[in-house]
Amino acid sequence: MNGIVLKNQNGYFNVLLDNNETASCRSRGKLKKKTDILVGDYVDCELDDSGQMLIKDVYPRLTVLHRPPIANVDQLILVSAIKSPDLDQYLLDKMIVLSEYAGINPAIIINKYDLDPSHALSVRYYYVNAGYDCICTSLETKYGLENVQMLLKGKIIAFSGPSGVGKSSLLNYILGSSHFISGEVSSHSGRGKTTTRHAELVRYSDHSLLMDTPGYTLLNLNHLMPEETAYLFKDFRPYLGKCRFNDCMHDKEPDCAVRDAVQNGDIQLERYNNYIKLLSELNSEKNRR
Ligand code: GDP
Ligand code: ZN
Repeated sequence: MNGIVLKNQNGYFNVLLDNNETASCRSRGKLKKKTDILVGDYVDCELDDSGQMLIKDVYPRLTVLHRPPIANVDQLILVSAIKSPDLDQYLLDKMIVLSEYAGINPAIIINKYDLDPSHALSVRYYYVNAGYDCICTSLETKYGLENVQMLLKGKIIAFSGPSGVGKSSLLNYILGSSHFISGEVSSHSGRGKTTTRHAELVRYSDHSLLMDTPGYTLLNLNHLMPEETAYLFKDFRPYLGKCRFNDCMHDKEPDCAVRDAVQNGDIQLERYNNYIKLLSELNSEKNRR
């Protein structure tokens, strides 16, 4: 029988089975040597002679995020605050690119709307224009919270973003007081503010599971190649392949369709500038290696 691992409890895995029931499973001895089992893993289970449910096999993972460890996330909600801490739009653009690179659909929440509404709305405009789902919220005034649900479209959904932007507050709001979120997994130690909690997938609706622990830098630039970066900017895609040179990096080359689109206002200048900035970051990474 197939299922998804919701939680690891001291070697017992809480698995949501295809029939919608949950079972406490152990890992079959042989499997233990072969692979770790992560929250989010799609697994194949069977009953042993004594009636204990065993995990026989782990299906290949589509994605793996590391802080906290979780497999097969297919939607990442990238949370930023408009202020306190100040929004870093380059970082957010980079996180979007990296989620696309990992094959995970990104959606964006600009929280703390109450601290600077007009700036928050202009940032939302920027991301919606670039083709992404983006909403503004405030836990303080409850602004926009009714729209959060619309973003939760994937099967396995996780939240990510810098410390202090309001991820835990948002998750508490979404999951309700019955499932209190106490700590984030820190980007330095990998341990939570409260060290006893383990990440867990919570059933949010019939279709969705939500990671109950927000994380930070879940993605890295290691394998991203400069020449594939433009494709990861969704708003650049209509223009790719239309430049004079096949291997155009859309930087200083003549007759570049991407740069023309920037000139015509079809691609936003700041998105383009963040692309160029990311390109030079990738190139200097490459030179260091
Ligand atoms: P996390 O580190 O991303 O999980 O952020 P928290 O949820 O712990 O929130 C950090 C701080 O920001 C807390 O003091 C919250 O009360 C505050 N906060 C969260 N959301 C909002 C908001 O919409 N507006 C304002 N003004 N403060 C908020
Ligand atoms: Zn070009």
